[in-house]
Amino acid sequence: MAATRPGGILFDAGGTLVRIHADRLAVALRARGADPRDLGDAFWRTLVRLEDEFSPSVGAFADWWPRWLATLASGCGVPTQVLVEAYQEADQDLHLWDDPLPGATECLVQLREAGIRVGVVSNADGRIAQALRRAGLAELLDVIVDSTVVGVYKPDPAIFNYALEPLGLAPAETWYLGDTVAYDAAAADAAGLVSWIIDHAGLHTVDHPRRIRSLVEFANIVLDSLSE
Ligand SMILES: [Mg+2]
Repeated sequence: MAATRPGGILFDAGGTLVRIHADRLAVALRARGADPRDLGDAFWRTLVRLEDEFSPSVGAFADWWPRWLATLASGCGVPTQVLVEAYQEADQDLHLWDDPLPGATECLVQLREAGIRVGVVSNADGRIAQALRRAGLAELLDVIVDSTVVGVYKPDPAIFNYALEPLGLAPAETWYLGDTVAYDAAAADAAGLVSWIIDHAGLHTVDHPRRIRSLVEFANIVLDSLSE
């Protein structure tokens, strides 16, 4: 599918390698008398609405988070204020996005064994390295870039320099896998990387020429490209 084999691969974190730890959030919600339904499903539907309604053309990234929480609240049938308080509590000591997605470990291990440099470029709050450590993924990554740490946020393509330079990679030989077109693919394309979109839940409505459904599928595509 892609024209050339990659020299390195960068990943988005939330919605790509890790997701919200739903059990921890549910405990905090139940402690407030709320009974969340289908939290996992509501999480994926909320991520997809990021594409449809909260893209950079609609508002600033800072506007996105309160709307994200309100959408998740309505998706799991709890009052927004209760969700916001429960989220803050559950996320306070341990970043909540520390649950590895299916295939994350296996994908990173396979790519490393194939000699490919791998890293993360994430819009996060300064704690994504911690979260990836708890998810068991940090030790498999050659570089972790957190937007709050470097002061540059996707879709600004300049954020990729913080990963490309330490890895000695040129943009054109680097693939970037994310879960949103508006933030991830747009930024990667603007930086000259080869963008890929992962659609774990099969809910995406935005077109992209390189879309995959799982991290296992992605690893296979990468390994196939090496043998071509
Ligand atoms: Mg994401």
